[in-house]
Amino acid sequence: MSQPKIVVLGAGYAGLKTVKQLQKKNINAEIILVNKNDYHYESTQLHEVAAGTEPASKITFKVTDVLDSKKVTFIQDTVSLVKKDEKKVVLEKQGELSYDYLVIALGFESETFGIPGVNDFSKPLVNIKTAEECKKHLDETLANYQTTKNDADLSIVVCGAGFTSIEYLGEITNRIPKLASQLGFPQDKVKITCIEAMPTLLPMFSEKLGSYGIDVLKKRGVEFKVGTPIKEIKENTVVYEENGELKEINANTIIWTTGVKGSSVIGESGFSERRGRVMVESDLTVAEHPEIFMIGDVSAVMDNESGRPFPTTAQIALKQGESVADNLEAKLAGRPSEPFSFKPLGTVASIGNNVGIGNVMGKEVKGYIGSIMKKNIINKSLLEVGSTKTLLKKGRFDYYH
Ligand code: FAD
Ligand code: NAD
Repeated sequence: MSQPKIVVLGAGYAGLKTVKQLQKKNINAEIILVNKNDYHYESTQLHEVAAGTEPASKITFKVTDVLDSKKVTFIQDTVSLVKKDEKKVVLEKQGELSYDYLVIALGFESETFGIPGVNDFSKPLVNIKTAEECKKHLDETLANYQTTKNDADLSIVVCGAGFTSIEYLGEITNRIPKLASQLGFPQDKVKITCIEAMPTLLPMFSEKLGSYGIDVLKKRGVEFKVGTPIKEIKENTVVYEENGELKEINANTIIWTTGVKGSSVIGESGFSERRGRVMVESDLTVAEHPEIFMIGDVSAVMDNESGRPFPTTAQIALKQGESVADNLEAKLAGRPSEPFSFKPLGTVASIGNNVGIGNVMGKEVKGYIGSIMKKNIINKSLLEVGSTKTLLKKGRFDYYH
């Protein structure tokens, strides 16, 4: 009798964790992992590549470096569709791939909310390619000032003030002084504006902790506009609303970080979704499809305490990967699957290399201690999806500075 076939789509935190757990188990199944690139990237560190404080090589490693080729087949291809009723996946180059069990972990894309001009005139920060484009654009635009003397070349707008924006601001404000002396532009003329729709910054933290983080960035020259939703992006211009009036800021660098949605493959494949996310069953399967697991940023898991879905994070994606591997093992052995349970450990956001703010297991952390916490979290997740070798090569051990 042929072996059951498990196909995992996406080698991000959720997909790679699932496969790494599966290959530790002694299961009688064919395991196939499909990913667009031949590398895994640490999405949680994309802001560093975008700001140019780390190269892409620091946050990536080859998927095959952590796979056991005797147990897992890796296919580098792009998934264009899931034909759930035929139990097939359509790949861009290699055509159709059948499965008995499917794990969908295709991750996130930039959310534009349909705001005009976003795709044409701003830069998203969602994968290695877009992060490298952000860096190239920032460097070239700042360098241009030498010849143009155009103030807009030194004007940067970061759209939204979620964690991605805050962490990106932390990195660029660390790097700009170095770039100024390297490229010869006047640092005091650099204008960095962060525009947030909501009336409060970092509302997930206590007022004191949130203000601490925002003050660090303000001292480094960032101006925050709050309660000012962005309405349109035009060429080198951000249009936002303030007190009922439309206003504009000129900037030759516009970074779009107003949130993310799940992969567009989810909606195109006919799953019942909202912003690319499927509200999953208690064991992370899709309603009426006990053979399909949906995890990571394409899934929504209800937090019964808050009555809202958990935020999509690497932290929950890793835990989901673990749970799916256990449940696949159970299903193959004819046992019932177990419900997924999740208790968030907390959140830490970096503000450049030396400062972090967050809540860890109910305790607030900030400053240098916060940055150490952040580095430990990066190292831990690197070990979960990578190996000891990847941790030693790509980990963060620059604790003393
Ligand atoms: P992803 O990490 O997006 O991985 C998806 C994988 O699927 C990728 O390898 C991609 O190449 C591949 N893929 C996508 N489409 C296709 C396709 N069509 N065909 C084939 N392959 C495809 N969370 C935290 O917990 N802590 C943090 O500190 C943190 N920091 C963050 C910082 C930034 C700048 C950002 C943007 C996010 C951060 N997050 C953080 C959120 C976290 O990165 C995501 O929740 C997490 O990456 C989701 O994991 P995932 O495996 O679902 O998806
Ligand atoms: P987000 O949704 O958390 O934040 C986006 C921000 O943009 C929000 O504050 C929102 O109000 C604002 N916004 C939306 N539309 C706007 C508009 N038209 N004009 C102005 N502002 C607008 O998105 P994110 O920061 O990209 O984070 C995505 C996910 O990744 C979240 O779940 C987050 O928790 C996670 N993440 C975690 C960390 C960390 O733990 N250190 C870091 C980055 C991201």
